[in-house]
Amino acid sequence: QCITHCPVGALHERSDIARVFDAISDPEIVTIAQIAPSVRTSWHEGLDLAADEATPGRLVAAVRKLGFDYVFDTDFAADMTIMEEGSELLLRLEAGVEGPMFTSCCPGWVRFLKTRYPWMQDRLSTTKSPQQIFGALAKTYYAGLLGIDPSKLFVVSYMPCVAKKAERAYPGMDSNEGVPDVDAALTVRELQRQIKSRFLNVALLDEEEFDAPLGAATGAGHIFGVTGGVMEAALRSAYFLATGSNPHPDAFEDIRYDGIERGWREKTFDLAGRTLRVAAASGLANADALCAAIDRGEVSYDFVEVMACPGGCVGGGGQPICEGEERAARRGSVLRRIDARSELRFSHENPSVQACYGDFLGAPLSELAERLLHSDHGAWSMPCAVGVDGPMKKK
Ligand code: SF4
Repeated sequence: QCITHCPVGALHERSDIARVFDAISDPEIVTIAQIAPSVRTSWHEGLDLAADEATPGRLVAAVRKLGFDYVFDTDFAADMTIMEEGSELLLRLEAGVEGPMFTSCCPGWVRFLKTRYPWMQDRLSTTKSPQQIFGALAKTYYAGLLGIDPSKLFVVSYMPCVAKKAERAYPGMDSNEGVPDVDAALTVRELQRQIKSRFLNVALLDEEEFDAPLGAATGAGHIFGVTGGVMEAALRSAYFLATGSNPHPDAFEDIRYDGIERGWREKTFDLAGRTLRVAAASGLANADALCAAIDRGEVSYDFVEVMACPGGCVGGGGQPICEGEERAARRGSVLRRIDARSELRFSHENPSVQACYGDFLGAPLSELAERLLHSDHGAWSMPCAVGVDGPMKKK
């Protein structure tokens, strides 16, 4: 709220710009950027660049011009998240685990749940967020491919989110003990300030490709940035993992939801002969209402997606601020369009994902995948919310 309403723009998120430029100018350090799905929908706002010129290729060129050695796509890691989370969901269904599995890729939501409904934190998927999966693979798998000591790599995330700055520092987010998987998380606003500080005329840049292999993504990875997208992407691959064949890519489109409306979206799907009850919510008021209904036993689901910001990351707290205008729905439609036009729309068909499992991890939920790509939500705590009767407790 302060960021939105400070009349002179003096209040910003804690800035990590100087640390990033220091790393870029250090010849001993190899710098890697990862760009989250929703950044490509909004990075041009305020940069004098028309929406149709603000292509992902021009964004890659702009980030490379800042001086990074490699520019990768967080959407690759979103595809990895789907492989792990989809497998985790199937395992829980087969084991008959009670209650819904909650998505855990949104740190704003994870912090909310741990604060307000701490007795439900065991229901969070243990799969790390795409930001953290990218960092873990960059400092293990990719460091190995480059033949570089992980401590010489500096990984920077460009995120729509302020909560990602805290997430990167949680216990266990260091696959090589003491070396953070992600060294700095910057918001879209910080990216814009970096571009302006370098006097880059982004309209004149030619489009460039993401680097390989951590730059290849499918349509399923792209829709992580819009509410309902994580659920839809997970169901596409869970269906494949359960049946061995692909559903229609839009088979689960009914869970799409603009997130601005009050309440949550609930649907029932058939998954390999099993009835799967799912729900998606965004915005913390909606999340609160959904959790309270689950807690009171009024509703029951197998799988629940929650994103803290209305509309998902396209409406994130690290996005450009347009006073008096809500742009989440428009940005979300950009990601939906990119998905619809993608040649590959299933995470399990991403050749870089297949190579990562084939050459390094083995299989989803393997011992190595569990160590690198999953986290223990009990390893850190939040102060519990305090109501009129003291700390919040299960009713
Ligand atoms: Fe961050 Fe908001 Fe996206 Fe959650 S929904 S990851 S808090 S930007």
